Order: sequence, then structure tokens, then C-alpha cells
Amino acid sequence: MRTQRQVVDYSLQKRALLRELRNGQVGALEVCDASPYLKNAARFHGEPTEDRCPVCRRDNLTLVHYIYGDELKQSAGQARKLAELPVLAMTLREFQVFVVEVCQSCAWNHLIQQYLLGRDALNADELDRDAAVAVSSSGRHRVTGWW
Ligand SMILES: [Zn+2]
Repeated sequence: MRTQRQVVDYSLQKRALLRELRNGQVGALEVCDASPYLKNAARFHGEPTEDRCPVCRRDNLTLVHYIYGDELKQSAGQARKLAELPVLAMTLREFQVFVVEVCQSCAWNHLIQQYLLGRDALNADELDRDAAVAVSSSGRHRVTGWW
């Protein structure tokens, strides 16, 4: 997506957790703990992937996109279909997207990425591409579990 910025990738954390799982340092029940809300969000708003669940290998992972930001008001914290995000990005100045992967078989779930979307980035793109790159590479790190 063209306006995607301040991308934070959590694949390192995910790999570390999977390693701990294989070593027996964490139990499957601790990491396969998707809430009923998250599983519903995966079912109704999720984006199917071709990637097998790294824990059970029974099912493909589903990506759930949660949106968060002051402008969203009562919609903040809701899951949205990926196709809805470009529309919102044209309407709103700025909002945060959290991408969570979910296995609907074993309930494995992990935050894999977060980024900002919104019209603000279009202006930044047009006015000063270099500045926009500088902002996106600085990134913000915040691991949350509010879903
Ligand atoms: Zn699984």
C-alpha cells in the first residue's frame, strides 16, 4: 500500500517464541491462546494466506488487520478486511494497523507487523519523499496484546 509507513516487523520475536516452544521453554497452551474474538475476526474479516501454521501444521494462517486511532472513534480496535484499508487510508489522516496471524485450528496467534496508514502520508510523499523515508525507517516499537 502506497501510504504504508513506520512499519514495524515482529518476525524476530515470532521466531524467538517458536524456538522457545520447540525447546519446551513455553507450552503450546501459552502461545495458542487466540480469544474467541480474535478467532471470529479471523473467520469474518481475515485474509487467508498460503502459509501453514508453524505450530500445528494443520491449517493455513489467517491475517487479521486491527485498526486503531483517535479519528476512528468507536471503530478503533476493530478488525477490518484488508480491502477496506485503502479506502480508510484515503479518508482518514492517520491510523495504526496491527496485523496478527491466527491459526483457526490450534489458536496460535502472533502480532507480525504494525504500520501507519492515512492521507498524511500522501502529502509527505508528494512534498518530500526523503523525509517520509527517514520517518518510516525510525519506526516505533510497541508490543501490545489488547486484542
Ligand atoms: Zn495451528
